[in-house]
Parts: sequence; structure tokens; C-alpha cells
Amino acid sequence: MYETLSLYIDGEFIQGGGRREQDVFNPATNEVIGKLPHATREDLDAALASAQRAYESWRHSSPMERSKVLRRVAELARERAQDIGRNLTLDQGKPIAEAIGEVVSCSEHAEWHAEECRRIYGRVIMPRTPGVRQLVLREPIGVCAAFSPWNFPFNQAIRKIAAAIGAGCTIILKGPEDAPSAVVALARLFHDAGLPKGCLNIVWGVPHEVSDYLIRSPIVRKVSFTGSVAVGKQLAALAGSLMKRCTMELGGHAPVIVCDDADVEKAADMLAPFKFRNAGQVCISPTRFYVQEGAYDKFVARFLSKVEAIKVGAGSDPANRMGPLAQQRRVAQFAGFIDDAHQRGATILAGGKTLGETGNFYAPTVVADMPDDSRLMTEEPFGPVAGMIRFKTVEDAITRANSLPFGLAAYAFTTSTRHATMISNGLEAGMVSINHFGMALAETPFGGIKDSGYGSEGGSETFDAYLTTKFVTQLN
Ligand code: NAD
Repeated sequence: MYETLSLYIDGEFIQGGGRREQDVFNPATNEVIGKLPHATREDLDAALASAQRAYESWRHSSPMERSKVLRRVAELARERAQDIGRNLTLDQGKPIAEAIGEVVSCSEHAEWHAEECRRIYGRVIMPRTPGVRQLVLREPIGVCAAFSPWNFPFNQAIRKIAAAIGAGCTIILKGPEDAPSAVVALARLFHDAGLPKGCLNIVWGVPHEVSDYLIRSPIVRKVSFTGSVAVGKQLAALAGSLMKRCTMELGGHAPVIVCDDADVEKAADMLAPFKFRNAGQVCISPTRFYVQEGAYDKFVARFLSKVEAIKVGAGSDPANRMGPLAQQRRVAQFAGFIDDAHQRGATILAGGKTLGETGNFYAPTVVADMPDDSRLMTEEPFGPVAGMIRFKTVEDAITRANSLPFGLAAYAFTTSTRHATMISNGLEAGMVSINHFGMALAETPFGGIKDSGYGSEGGSETFDAYLTTKFVTQLN
């Protein structure tokens, strides 16, 4: 049984009532598996009013109370991980082990915020004048509007909700209409964990209509978005014109630099499964593989042998390691990148084609010899492709890695401390991982620079975007 899809407003799960409904598809079969109710204007107004009412008391809740709710959410998430994961595979497509893993690992985000919200401190500044007391207070920013994407539906939503709730804010979240079950499941987790009504509201609809309405509302004080650079810039511009705080987690085009001095085979063994996780629909997925000329042939051969062994098929079959692309439209978009590479004389070393008769399956693809100005090398492909590029010097690789406007994740493999330091200092990225993959942990900040956005989710930075700073000076 797939999740019963609903809105969640003022503590009520709502469906039907003549609301417009959107079909939800299984990307492995393209069959309709559910109907998602869209919020009406009245629903959005009800969500705004509810979030505002709830804020008046939640802002004064003790960190202990917030912490208790978030801890319970983590416990319940672990208990329900199998069911939530199964539904996530049905509507998003990723392999079942990845889906369940997403839920289990993300319960840590609830726990981290449960712990960290007890450490939201102000400070006392010594006065110039006797009798004056100077205090710096951190207060919740208010009602937040958040927009989370379809590639990690549970992960991306829980981070936003946990940060808002832990900071004493309330939140209205529009999840991904293409893969909505995990966000409805999250509403149930918070509901059952005892979160007071109105602190979390979930709405669905035509994305730009919902975001436009919520961001323009004077009730909303903060906007958080995860998605493409183009949409992020639009939302940030609107929020900026209304002087509202934003967190923007946008796209990337992650470089990975493999030096001659790396453990080349180990790097290939690690990078191949990491690249094709979630069919490459990961904003921190490595896409541009800069491999030093002495290591190139060995690395590419080993990488190809690993890629050819990746079993592609429905995520519900545990034997499959890569599922379909999440939406039908993405297959055509993705094929456009490969066509462009073909036309520009690139060599397709693996894949480069759709698979099967039904579903949005695309073969894991490896491409070499692309010109630097090809679409694959300049636009974010957000799919199962690795582009191989030779480089001579580490300085050259860093320059080419930095040549795009993106700045989210970057990776390097080297056994030289000098190269590791040069690369981590030189790369323009919000996150750099060397010789392993260590990003997106609850206790570490996640976020980009340049066109990839601003603000961090996770780590001890997590509440910065949800708190205001108030200075109080008082003469007694
Ligand atoms: P998109 O920006 O159109 O959509 C991403 C999400 O945002 C979807 O869930 C969509 O419903 C929502 N959305 C779209 N327009 C919106 C609007 N005007 N207001 C509010 N929400 C809106 O991108 P896409 O083509 O569906 O997905 C691929 C892109 O998303 C990639 O470029 C990728 O970089 C980006 N993405 C980034 C991250 C990240 O963590 N930085 C995560 C997922 C997706």
C-alpha cells in the first residue's frame, strides 16, 4: 500500500474536498500510484494563519520541549524506516537499500538538532559605563517557508523542518510533488511525536504559484529552498525584494581531481558506486573527473569495469544498484547532454542510451574527450554520467575545476599532503572531501558558494539562518 497523500495544515491531514489532484507516478513503470491534493488559496491562508498562531507560543517553548519532540521523531523514523523507504522507492525510484538508508541516516538530523537546540546561546558584552548591561540575544526569526526537492525527499525536508522547529520557528513546507510520500510520512512523524499543531504545515501545488504566494505573505520571515540554480535565483530575488532571509542550497557540477600519486584503483572503486548513487541525481555527485595523465588509463579502465557491473532496474528489487531517473522529463533532458557530447566528437565509453521498454531507465554513462565548452562540461547534468578529462599539472586541474559558476562539492584523491592542501585551499567550493566521502553528516555544515547558493544546513551553523540577533543595552 502506497502512502495516503494529503496536506497537513493546523495539525490535520486533509484530502479530497474537491481539491485539484495531481497524479504521482512510479518512475520504474510509469504507472500512477497515487493522487496528490493541491492546496487551494484558502488552504495556503489557513497554513499561514496556523503557522503564525503556533509561532506565538512555540517561540517561547523551552529547548527541552523542542529537544523532546525531535528525539521522538528520530526514534519513530527508525521504527518506520522500512515502510517510508518502500514508498520512497515507489515514487522516487532509488534502490530500496538507499531509500531505507536515507530514512535511517536522516533520523540523525532530528537527533543533532535535538541536541544542538539546547546550545543556542547569547552573550554578555562588558560595558564601557558602570551600571550598563549589554546583552546579545538570539531569537527565532519567525514563520519559515521551505521548498524541498525530489532527489532526497526525506533528507532535504527533515533538515529544514528540524532546524526551524529546533530554533523555535514554525514552518510551512512545500515538498516535491513528484515524490511526495516521504514528506507526508514526515508530517506523521512530527504529529505523532507531539509537535503542537501549526508548528509544521505541509502544502502541495504548482511550485511557482505556491512559493510566490507564501514568500509574498507578510507572515513569512524566512525562505529556504533546495533545487536548481535558476529557480533559486528567482526565489532569492523575490525574497530579497521583500527583505526576507534566505538559505539557498542549489545545484553543483562537482569536480574530482585524481592525481598520479593517488591510490588509483582504490579511488576508482570508491568513485564508481558513489557517482551512480541515486542515478547520479545528487547535487554533490562528482561529474567532472579530472585525472592526471600518468593515472588516466589505469583509472578509466578500473572505473569502467566497476560501472559495467552496476545492475540497473526497479529499485524495489534489492539486487538492483541503480534505479530509474525520477521523472520521464529527465530522460529527455539527460539524453540532450549525451547527444551534444556525441556531436562534439566525445567518446562514449559506456552507456549513452536508455534501457528497457518501460520506466525511465538510463544506462550508467562514461564519456571522454569532451570539449570544455560542451553542455556536459558546463551545465549540471544531474544524472548518471561521469566525464573523464586528462590533466597535466595540479594547478591546471584546480583552474579548470574552478572555471564554472558552481561551487558546491569537490573531491580529490592524492597521497601527497602538499597536493591535498593545495587542492583544498585552491578549490572554490562549499565542501571539499579528500580521499573519502564525508559530506552531509548531521554534525557537519552542508552548503555551497558562488551560484550554488548560500547558508549552511547541519553542523553548529545550522540555526544561524533561523535566528535573529538582538542587542539589548540597559542602564540600571
Ligand atoms: P527545479 O529547481 O525545477 O526543481 C527542484 C525542486 O524545486 C522540485 O521539487 C520543484 O518542485 C521545486 N520547484 C521548482 N520550481 C519552484 C518554484 N518556483 N518555487 C518553489 N519550488 C519550486 O529542478 P529540477 O529540474 O526538478 O531538478 C534538478 C535540479 O535541481 C538540478 O539542477 C539540481 O541541481 C537541483 N537540485 C539541487 C539540490 C541541492 O541539494 N542543491 C537537490 C536537488 C535538486
